[in-house]
Amino acid sequence: MLSTPAYAAATPTSALAPYSIERRDPGPRDVLIDIRYCGVCHSDIHQARDEWGGSIFPMVPGHEIIGTVAQVGSEVTRWRPGDTVGVGCMVDSCRRCEACEAGEEQFCEGGASFTYNSREQDGVTPTYGGYATRITVDQDFVLRIPAGIPLDRAAPLLCAGITTYSPLRYFGVKAGDAVGVVGLGGLGHMGVKLAKAMGARVTVLSHSPGKRGDALALGADDFIATHDAAAFSDNANRFDFLLDTVSAQHDYNAYLNLLKRDGTMVLVGLPDPTPLAAAPLVFRRRKLTGSLIGGIRETQEMLDFCAEHGVAADVELIPIQQINEAFERMLKSDVRYRFVIDIASLA
Ligand code: NAP
Ligand code: ZN
Ligand code: ZN
Repeated sequence: MLSTPAYAAATPTSALAPYSIERRDPGPRDVLIDIRYCGVCHSDIHQARDEWGGSIFPMVPGHEIIGTVAQVGSEVTRWRPGDTVGVGCMVDSCRRCEACEAGEEQFCEGGASFTYNSREQDGVTPTYGGYATRITVDQDFVLRIPAGIPLDRAAPLLCAGITTYSPLRYFGVKAGDAVGVVGLGGLGHMGVKLAKAMGARVTVLSHSPGKRGDALALGADDFIATHDAAAFSDNANRFDFLLDTVSAQHDYNAYLNLLKRDGTMVLVGLPDPTPLAAAPLVFRRRKLTGSLIGGIRETQEMLDFCAEHGVAADVELIPIQQINEAFERMLKSDVRYRFVIDIASLA
């Protein structure tokens, strides 16, 4: 076992603090990665504070991992020491069910092994995430980081990038579509960049009026301040597609009315439950659905798409000692637009 410095939450109410974990020695199919950067996702906060229930403590969060291959097992053919690689939200899955066979490991029927706050496929061993100096991962769950994307700005692609890319692709967003991105945080700002790169006309819907300038600078064509109730009547029936990235409870029904006939609203944010009315769906045959990260094959496709289109996250690089402050700032919607931990600060 490899003793590894990390930051962990000991309980749902404790601050993250230095902690030591054991990583497994690389087996024949494993890759040992020295972590360089790890993005900070709002899901890290939800889970560290046990907002979804069932969290496993102590918890080392982090699923936007960029690093360098340090060592590979004897059967590993795809990776070599020195390669720049990524690890996203999953580290394993059953490989046999219909979802896995379709390359949608996030929906693995036996349960994917998520990167942290989860169990390895043995159903016992807890997983620990990227707020740590290294990680051991099965070679099939390692992603190639294309040259040209600055590595700190690549980290958020591993969750925020794929979580917004996957529904845009799955629901067939195309050039000229009117797309609304609800919430301009880590996911939202990636949604803007990716939808623009796909040729859509993009509007940001935000409860922070001060983000208008940033939204336009990120590439949005328009901005709607949602604290003003008139925004909802003024923009009724306007959008083909809405991507809702909001992390806190809000009224879905109001947003559904912004969709055209047959429009689709996809939830990727995971706040507490909100009541849903039938009328906004029934009267214009609108669709409400959700989406969870994306499979490994699609994550690689997204990374290659980002390299080709010059897309990367806007980040605030922080030493790990500032992680608790970063959580607090995210809760105030004050991040421009993803915190990324410089793991050198942990060594
Ligand atoms: P984030 O960076 O904190 O951004 C969330 C944004 O939501 C904020 O910037 C803010 O945007 C908006 N918001 C926050 N509180 C609000 C409120 N009270 N009313 C209205 N809007 C509010 O979070 P993130 O990392 O992008 O994650 C967003 C959500 O997606 C989280 O719930 C996370 O768990 C979830 N998530 C889901 C998946 C998936 O696979 N489905 C993957 C990753 C994350 P404005 O200031 O512009 O309003
Ligand atoms: Zn995430
Ligand atoms: Zn499976």
